[in-house]
Amino acid sequence: MQYLFWFIIAGFFALIAGTFYWSSLRRGGNPIELEKDLEEWICPTCGFQVQMGTECIYCGEKKPAD
Ligand SMILES: [Zn+2]
Repeated sequence: MQYLFWFIIAGFFALIAGTFYWSSLRRGGNPIELEKDLEEWICPTCGFQVQMGTECIYCGEKKPAD
C-alpha cells in the first residue's frame, strides 16, 4: 500500500514538472507570434476592427504582415 502512495506522489510531481517544462517550451517557442494573435488590428479592406485572430471575420481578409 505504501508503494502505491509513493508512486502517486512521484507521478504527481512528474506531472507538475512536465507542465512547467511544457509551458516554458511554449513561452520560449514563439512569444511574438502569440502576442500578434491577441492584439487588435484594422482590416485594410473593410476597415473592421478585428479583436482577435489573424483573419477578418467580416470579409475574410488575412491580417497584413508588418
Ligand atoms: Zn475585413
